[in-house]
Amino acid sequence: MFDQIAGNARVKEVLKRMLDSGRLPGALLFAGEEGVGKKLFALEVARALNCRTPRDGQGCGKCSACARIAKINYPERDDADEWNQIIWTNYPDVGVVVAPKRVLRVEQMRQIEKEANFRPFEGKARVFLIDEADKLNDASANALLKVLEEPPRTSHLILITARPAMLLPTILSRCQMIRFAPLTPDEIETHLTKNDIDKKTARLRARAAGGSMGRAMSGDLVTFTSQRKAMLKVLNALVVSNNRAELLRSAEQLNEAQYKDEFEERLDVLETLIRDAWMLSLGVKPSQLVNEDLLGELQPISEGLDSSRAANWILQIEDVREQLIVNINRKVTTDALFLAMAGEVPVPKRAKVR
Ligand SMILES: [Zn+2]
Repeated sequence: MFDQIAGNARVKEVLKRMLDSGRLPGALLFAGEEGVGKKLFALEVARALNCRTPRDGQGCGKCSACARIAKINYPERDDADEWNQIIWTNYPDVGVVVAPKRVLRVEQMRQIEKEANFRPFEGKARVFLIDEADKLNDASANALLKVLEEPPRTSHLILITARPAMLLPTILSRCQMIRFAPLTPDEIETHLTKNDIDKKTARLRARAAGGSMGRAMSGDLVTFTSQRKAMLKVLNALVVSNNRAELLRSAEQLNEAQYKDEFEERLDVLETLIRDAWMLSLGVKPSQLVNEDLLGELQPISEGLDSSRAANWILQIEDVREQLIVNINRKVTTDALFLAMAGEVPVPKRAKVR
């Protein structure tokens, strides 16, 4: 049942409607950030098509078909040859391919084409998931085109990607795209508490997750807590204490070797804190904040913050994020960012919001 999966109510509606009307497209593209449940939804589609006791056109989740479809038999060893082929679930008509290294291979696409042309062995439909579809290169994409254009009536291909812009137009034009939204903190929290995680931990995990259930489940709370503390210091130095030395110390810390891999995460955290303080300054209810548990710390910041300043900060952080794509000197960039946020140097690149 789709309702067992957290979030993305609109996607649930769209898929239910397609399944109900018996008009599920042969080629679908599930696009959305990592960890929002795209693969779960794809397996749920496979269940709906093959369930023995469907309810409202959806998989019951309990029959033998539903139970077996949920179990993908990933190879145990990273270097196993099985990664180069379709990895089947415990159900003979549902399988997934993933990129063995950096690209999806031509052989994998040829195997999908061949298997898609078989009638279902057991149920009503064969379903093939192509995970990380952005890893199709020209050759493997070409090998997929024919079956993608006209899949046999009983076969469905579901491409999954967090980076739809990386897909070739020839692939995009043959798929019906379904866009997944990031999960809200509330959706994540509700799901976690349903799964026996205590309320306080669930809340913190939901806030650390940045919209991804994957991150909410596996994220490291100690790291998140210390990241928030460090970024709160930045905002304090900017708005409350106007302490320039503190600000530069924070910039330095952000670039210490031990935090090297956390650079972008810390920018994310800084951005959510700014948004929260901004929303508070506009009189939004604390329950709407991402970091509601830091209300006491955010309050004084919000009092010293006006909208145009907050908007500029977000733009400045977005600029840095763009620059990260090329190989920039992070130390110089961070110093420049924090000083620009303090209003001491002109805002680079983009125009100021007034
Ligand atoms: Zn079932």
